[in-house]
Amino acid sequence: MNSRTNGIIVAIDGPSGAGKSTIARLLAERLGYIQIDTGAMYRAAAFLLMTAEINLDDLAAVEVFCRDMDIQLDVVSGCQSVIANGMDVTHKIRTAEMSLLTSRTSTLKPVREALFKAQQQMGRRGGVVLEGRDIGTVVFPDAEIKFYLSASVEERARRRYEELTAKGEPVTLADTIADVIQRDRQDSERDIAPLRQADDAVLIDSSLLSVDEVLNLMVEMCRNKIGTAGSSL
Ligand code: C5P
Repeated sequence: MNSRTNGIIVAIDGPSGAGKSTIARLLAERLGYIQIDTGAMYRAAAFLLMTAEINLDDLAAVEVFCRDMDIQLDVVSGCQSVIANGMDVTHKIRTAEMSLLTSRTSTLKPVREALFKAQQQMGRRGGVVLEGRDIGTVVFPDAEIKFYLSASVEERARRRYEELTAKGEPVTLADTIADVIQRDRQDSERDIAPLRQADDAVLIDSSLLSVDEVLNLMVEMCRNKIGTAGSSL
């Protein structure tokens, strides 16, 4: 019997600032699926490790800590909130500082193992849109449909800069470009589950496309897939 009782698995991977979160949220809404923002889970783990002052060079200590870590994604009045060990960290994890720290903590094996298990548990029944860096390659290599969403460094940095300044964060565009380049390097050069386009992923470059254009393209491809998968689900 197929275990995807709730629908198919849609995987969206790609570098930071490519628009994955916005697209994943809208796509999930259009399909009536649940959105799983795995980046938020990595950010929450980084936040917990930081506040507990765990020495990141002590992998045994990181492992013990991750064993009891509890990260939940909840939807409260239509907005996704991130609850880490019972604490609402939704906004605290979105700073530029947390982005860089997360890029570091997400290279650690115990962190990846703990979140890999949690994500598999959350998504295995299907009816989900998961976004991240390693969904189509590692977490759900058997996802029914995979997208790799990308955009130029300049465009991604510009979007991130607008997002951060709108929240009142004192950043410059030059710093944001440097951060994007550094995060790209950390995410794609790490040993475990590096950022990489799966061989069977559909590549979409969002640099010159509007959100609606990207979304419509993806909705259509997902609906076709759901149609063909329907009888075997
Ligand atoms: O997607 P977002 O920018 O929120 O992700 C924050 C960081 O979490 C990334 O830069 C990456 O280091 C890490 N991450 C990961 N694997 C995922 C999702 C995010 O390593 N599946």
